[in-house]
Amino acid sequence: MTKPDIRDFTRQELAGAMIALGEKGSRIDRIFNFLHRKGAESFAAMDGVQEEFRNKLAARYDIAPAPAMEKRVSKIDKTIKLLFTFSDGAKAEGVVLFNKETASACLSSQAGCACGCTFCATGALGFKRDLKPSEILAQFAACRREAGGKLDSVVFMGMGEPFLNWANVRKSVLILADNKGYNFPQSKITVSTVGIVPVIRDLADSRLGIRLAVSLITADEAQRAELTPMAKKYSLREIIGAARYYGDRTKRSVLFEYIVFDGLNDTPEDAKKLLALIKDLICKVNLIIYNPVPGGAVYKPGSVEKAKEMQKILVEAGVRTHLRREKGADIAAACGQLAAGPGPL
Ligand code: SF4
Repeated sequence: MTKPDIRDFTRQELAGAMIALGEKGSRIDRIFNFLHRKGAESFAAMDGVQEEFRNKLAARYDIAPAPAMEKRVSKIDKTIKLLFTFSDGAKAEGVVLFNKETASACLSSQAGCACGCTFCATGALGFKRDLKPSEILAQFAACRREAGGKLDSVVFMGMGEPFLNWANVRKSVLILADNKGYNFPQSKITVSTVGIVPVIRDLADSRLGIRLAVSLITADEAQRAELTPMAKKYSLREIIGAARYYGDRTKRSVLFEYIVFDGLNDTPEDAKKLLALIKDLICKVNLIIYNPVPGGAVYKPGSVEKAKEMQKILVEAGVRTHLRREKGADIAAACGQLAAGPGPL
């Protein structure tokens, strides 16, 4: 029988497990620190923890080995894509993005994705399985190493829909932010969803301090239904309602992501439609020009000129709007391109 991976436990869960082993809570912080800050790869590596206790832990729990990793580096902008293969063969990708003096990591929450968005390479793969907290944290640790030991922000915008694996993503956030763990501020973590309404509301009611990004994709309901099957489950009206609830409860701004497709949603009228949806929300908009995916010829990228025109309309109406420069397109590391393959060299 497979043993649970002790790296999947939050500090509170670890405390419960240790008390169940008849131990007092005093060793919790030390063990947690070994697991997450020092990156112990075995119980034997936990210097200073009594051998008898290490053996007790090893009898009940596992520390899975680090996943195998392949790396690609963009020749255009130095973006790094890491392809992880976990012990059962499941694959996921993490990306390190550099911007002047800062570095951010884009992490995957699932191997594949069940949402099936028609413009996304991950969606075309279908769903393989949820990633465990330890597998998400392994991506973080590897991305941080590749970034030279320091990351300024983390986004859950890689493979998978984080709110369909919320229990594990939430735990990984708690371990990342724990001051005995990675001590990475929650305010620097953004979780992006295609619009899983009940979890947006749960997040609003939670005490988590992470940021919310909602991938609206487009502002037209019928068009959205063509682009993501999830539109049939949650309407734009429900998604905007949940985003408003999140803003009201947390007083934090919501980031809306809009993908600009050529001839589909790239006119001034489309910008006004978007404006009508979000005008009374505290929010920011990222306009992302569609990134073609290998084998997908259905959509074409919108032009920078048209995207700038849309940006102007939104900005003039008082909405902070950023036209996102995509990175890592030459190594299939840009938004929507992650397909759990090594990608071009
Ligand atoms: S865009 Fe996001 S939610 Fe949609 S298929 Fe791709 S990974 Fe899944």
